[in-house]
Amino acid sequence: MLPHHAGKCARLHGHSYRLDVTVRGELREDGAESGMVMDFAELEAIVGPEVIDRLDHRHLNDVVENPTCERILLWIAAGLAPRLPGLDELVLWETASACAVLRADELSKSTGRSQATR
Ligand SMILES: [Zn+2]
Repeated sequence: MLPHHAGKCARLHGHSYRLDVTVRGELREDGAESGMVMDFAELEAIVGPEVIDRLDHRHLNDVVENPTCERILLWIAAGLAPRLPGLDELVLWETASACAVLRADELSKSTGRSQATR
């Protein structure tokens, strides 16, 4: 719940979030990841424990103070950035049509972008 929100998000409620993680880099030339930027399985092995297991079915206020979509995304970025050197962009969808976007060059700042589509 958002204690400062003027609308219904001030009440205890849930959302079905979706997280898009983008990693950018050169295609690997040899080894098991030849032709890939990063093996999807390796990416999921990082995002799962670092993000999903720590947030899924949790009371978000216990994890992130005033858990707006943007602030949750900053929390996610802080956890992923040290483990994903190629991290390029994160998008956290709060609903099917509204999301927060954070690019890698914004990771060190408290900025970001909110976006809604219809
Ligand atoms: Zn809400």
